[in-house]
Amino acid sequence: MEKMEFKAESKRLLEMMINSIYTHKEVFLRELISNASDAIDKIYYKALTDESLSFDKDNYFIKIVHDKENRTLKITDTGIGMTKEELETNLGTIAKSGSLAFKKETELKDGFDIIGQFGVGFYAAFMVADTVTVVSKSLGSDIAYKWESTGADGYTIEAVDKAEVGTEITLKIKENTEDENYDDYLDEYRLKTIIKKYSDFIRYPIKMDVTKSKLKEGSESEYEQYTEEEIINSMVPIWRKNKNELTDADYENFYAEKRYGFDKPLKSIHITVDGTVRYNSILYIPENIPFDYYSREFEKGLELYSNGVLIMDKCADLLPDHFSFVKGMVDSEDLSLNISREMLQHDRQLKLIAKNIGKKIKSELQSLLKNDREKYEKFYNSFGRQLKYGVYADFGANKDALQDLLMFYSSKEKKLVTLEEYVSRMPEDQKYIYYAAGESVERIEKLPQTEFVSEKGFEILFFTEDIDEFAIKMLMNYKEKEFKSISSDDLGIEGEDNKSDSESEDQESKELFDYMKSALAGKVKDVRISKRLKSHPVCLATEGDISIEMEKILAAMPDNTQQVKADKILEINKNHEVYQSLKAAFESDKQKLELYTKLLYNQALLIEGLPIADPVEFTNDICKVMV
Ligand code: ADP
Ligand code: MG
Repeated sequence: MEKMEFKAESKRLLEMMINSIYTHKEVFLRELISNASDAIDKIYYKALTDESLSFDKDNYFIKIVHDKENRTLKITDTGIGMTKEELETNLGTIAKSGSLAFKKETELKDGFDIIGQFGVGFYAAFMVADTVTVVSKSLGSDIAYKWESTGADGYTIEAVDKAEVGTEITLKIKENTEDENYDDYLDEYRLKTIIKKYSDFIRYPIKMDVTKSKLKEGSESEYEQYTEEEIINSMVPIWRKNKNELTDADYENFYAEKRYGFDKPLKSIHITVDGTVRYNSILYIPENIPFDYYSREFEKGLELYSNGVLIMDKCADLLPDHFSFVKGMVDSEDLSLNISREMLQHDRQLKLIAKNIGKKIKSELQSLLKNDREKYEKFYNSFGRQLKYGVYADFGANKDALQDLLMFYSSKEKKLVTLEEYVSRMPEDQKYIYYAAGESVERIEKLPQTEFVSEKGFEILFFTEDIDEFAIKMLMNYKEKEFKSISSDDLGIEGEDNKSDSESEDQESKELFDYMKSALAGKVKDVRISKRLKSHPVCLATEGDISIEMEKILAAMPDNTQQVKADKILEINKNHEVYQSLKAAFESDKQKLELYTKLLYNQALLIEGLPIADPVEFTNDICKVMV
C-alpha cells in the first residue's frame, strides 16, 4: 500500500473548498450523483464509436445505500470506473477534471452534456464525511483499486477485488455537531428529498432501498416493515419532452410536484429555444395570489437547471419585477457556471434568456387577453396591480411593453376594459381619456364631477387602486391621447362654458369668490364657477400634478414628512340655489357668508373622502344653519 500526500497547495485548497465554496452541505450528494451519471455517460459515448461495446440502458444505474448504525453512505455506479492513474490524477489533484479532459478528447459537442468540468465537486464529500473511500474498476481492466482519504492529510491507494466495472464511494458520515445535524445524511426520507431536489432529472435511475410496511401475514391490524428497491428520480424531465405529447394534466402535475403553488396554474407556457443560447423552460401563471405576494418576504425567481441538475432555487435575474408572479424553471446547457455551480460566471447568457422569457410572457398574456377574456380577467384581478407597478417602476422604462396589458373599470361598459378598447370607441370630439380616482366604483359613481362627463356621453375609467394614478402619470398618454382626471381644472369639453349672462354679473361673482377664497385662508387656490357641476352645489377640482387621490395616498405613507398637498379649487354650481344664498349673504351678512363658505368647503372634502380638520366645529356649523 502506498501512502501519498496532497501537495501543499492542495491541502489549503481542500480546506477552503470544504469550508467555503458551498452554501448548503447537502449538495455533496448532487456532486457525487452527477459524477456517477457522467461516468455512465462516458460508457454511452464510447459505445457510440466503439463497436465492441454495446450500451444496454437497463444495465446502468446509480445506487444509494445508507447505513445508520455504521454511519456510512454508499454511492455506487455502473459507470466507466477509474484506473489507478485516474484515481491519482482525478481525485488526487484538486481542480483536475477527468470529465473536462474527456469532453475535449472525444470532441463531442451537440447534445453532449456531461456535467463535470471543474474538478472540485468530488471534494464536497468531505463536507459531510470524515473518511471517503473510493473503490473503482475501470472499463477494460482486471484490477480494481481502493482510494481512501480522511481529507487534508492525503490519501492511500491499493489494489482490491471488485467484480463489476464501476465505482463505489463510501462516506463515513461525521458525528453531529452543535451547528450541523449530520444524521440527516443517513436518514432515508431526507436523502430521498435531496435526490429529488437536485438530481430528479439525471438520465439514469437512482435506486434506493426504501422502507415500506405491509400487513403481517394472517393479521388484520399488525404491520411489518420491509425494504424494497425504488427508483427515486423521474429521469426524463417534462421540459425535454415533446409539447405535443404533453397534456394540461402533465403540466398541472409538474406544478403541484414542484410545489410552485397550491392552486392550479391558470396557464402554462412551454418554451424550447435552439438559438444562440439553448434552453428549455416551463413557466406558469398562477391562478391565486400567493399569500405573501405583496409583502417584503416574497422572493421572485425561477428554478435554474444546468443540464437537468438544479443549480439555483430562485434565480431572480430570470424574471422582470413586473412578471414576478410567474413560477417555473429554466434548463440550459449553455450556462457558464462558477466553481460551486451555485452561481453563474457570466450573466450574458442569462440576460439573453431573461429577455426572451420576458417577451414570451408578455405575448402569452396578450393572447390570453385576446382569446380567453374570462381567464385574463381572473389573472388581472390577482396580478394587475403588479403590472401597474411595472408601468410606474424604473421611471416608466417598461411602460410601452406593459400598457396593452392594463385594464380599468369603465363607466360605460360596467366592467374592465383595455386602453385600446377605450380609445377605439372615442367619439371624434373627445380629446382626452377621462378617468376618475376614488376608493371604490360605487364611490366614484357618486362623485359630482362624473355626472357632467358621463352626460356628455364620454366613457370614464375608474381608478380604484393606489397605484393607478401614479402609473397613468408615468404613461402620460396612450395612442397620443392624453389622460385627464375628471377633477382637473380644464376638461377640454365643448359647451362646458357656463358663461355668465353679463359682464356685471361676472364682476359681481368675482368679488364674491375673492371674499370666499380669503375666508378659506389658503386652504384652496381658488374659488370658481363650476363648468362641470349639474345637480350638486359644490365640488373640489385640482390644478397641477398632484390629485386629491394622490394626496390621500401620500398622506398614508409612513414617511410622509413633506405633507404633499394637491392644489385645490373650490367649484360652485351657479345654477344651484345655494349660489343665490351665497350672493345674498355677500350683500347683507358677511359672517353668514363665511359660515356658508366653511360648510361648502368641508362638504366638498367629505365628498372626496378627505378628512375635515375639525369635525366638531363642522357639526356646530350645521346646527348654526338649522336654528
Ligand atoms: P468534475 O466532475 O467537475 O470533473 P469532480 O471533482 O466532481 O470534478 O470529479 C473529478 C474527476 O474524477 C471527474 O472529472 C472524473 O474524471 C473522476 N470521477 C469522479 N467520480 C467518478 C466516478 N463515480 N466514476 C468515474 N470517474 C469519476
Ligand atoms: Mg463532478
